[in-house]
Amino acid sequence: MIKVKYNIDKKTLNAAYLKLFKNDSQEKQKKWKNIRKQINPYFTSLPSKVKDIMVADFKKLTPIYLEYVAMMNTNKLTDLQKKDIKQKLEEIFNYTVWQPKLSSFFMNSQNGFQIHTCHYCDMAYVNAYGFWVIYSDMLDFINNAPLEDLTRFLDIEQSTAQKIIDYRGRHLFSTLDEFDNMKCWKSQKKKKSDHLLNNAKNHFDLDHILDKGSCPIIALSLYNFTPSCQVCNEKLKRSQTIGSTDAELCKLSPTSSDYDFDNNVTITVIPKKSTCSTFGFESHKNDYGIEFKCTDTDYQKTIDLFRLRERYNYHKVEALRLLDLKERYSDANIRSISRLLQNGTQSVIALQYTEQQIYEDIFGEDFSEKHCRCLGKLRKDILK
Ligand SMILES: [Zn+2]
Repeated sequence: MIKVKYNIDKKTLNAAYLKLFKNDSQEKQKKWKNIRKQINPYFTSLPSKVKDIMVADFKKLTPIYLEYVAMMNTNKLTDLQKKDIKQKLEEIFNYTVWQPKLSSFFMNSQNGFQIHTCHYCDMAYVNAYGFWVIYSDMLDFINNAPLEDLTRFLDIEQSTAQKIIDYRGRHLFSTLDEFDNMKCWKSQKKKKSDHLLNNAKNHFDLDHILDKGSCPIIALSLYNFTPSCQVCNEKLKRSQTIGSTDAELCKLSPTSSDYDFDNNVTITVIPKKSTCSTFGFESHKNDYGIEFKCTDTDYQKTIDLFRLRERYNYHKVEALRLLDLKERYSDANIRSISRLLQNGTQSVIALQYTEQQIYEDIFGEDFSEKHCRCLGKLRKDILK
């Protein structure tokens, strides 16, 4: 539903991603060279370098995935050979081993990911959380955090936290180095300030769009990951894949350049009876249903897979409330309210009651978009 946005230059992002694996890259490449020789005849184009698979665009991953699945269905290989191939590939592309590092990579703000709500359903918040939700930056944290926060976020004893408080009682930290150079960290190899970032938590799953169980080669590929909620990933999608053909997969993956759910699907409210007013909707909400209208019917597959129709109908009061507001606060009514509130006030105060501001106060359209609130598309489509 929401396209994954890559907000930094792809070359920089890819280089940062590959850096995660740098200590292991030679070993991976050696193993890949051997297994690649064996499986290469089954593929039209299989990269010779592991790193090219890790940062391949989604469109380059789909043929690898489809050809691997076909290879596993061929009679030319025995079951034992297939088992052996899979095992060797799982050793190279072992997601379980790398999972914590990958999550941290997605949470690191330097990598530019905007993770707010689930990319598949837009119904659950999936943000990362750490010290930065409460403090503006690391220095703000180090200079202002109370004892409890210092112990919790830095994983230290109260007596060590007290040393930080005593230090800043004399003068505030002006740089992070000043903090990292404190005597109490002398025995530690890593910078203590790094611990703050590593201690971050998240409540998102990294879904493999192309199932890693069906094709281990793409288990560590950056553009095969979509941050999603647990319901979408673990309860609904599980190991299923979003489409079956190459074109379909590319169209339906939120990480693909072809993905355009927004312009191909409209969320709308359909009255079940001839009632045309949503006034007092709370007492007759079952007179309405939410429907997803697709101009490109392929998108219906993701709507069905993530059960968006049922899940959105559970929240239909959100849409009905907006429709009701739309009915009662027409442009003409907003103009009248604005005139009334601006009447006789100073120009500074009058600015607070422009028609545009009153519209925003009632419908919260810009607020919702700016702060990435859940059900953003529903709101946008209803208010169109
Ligand atoms: Zn979801």
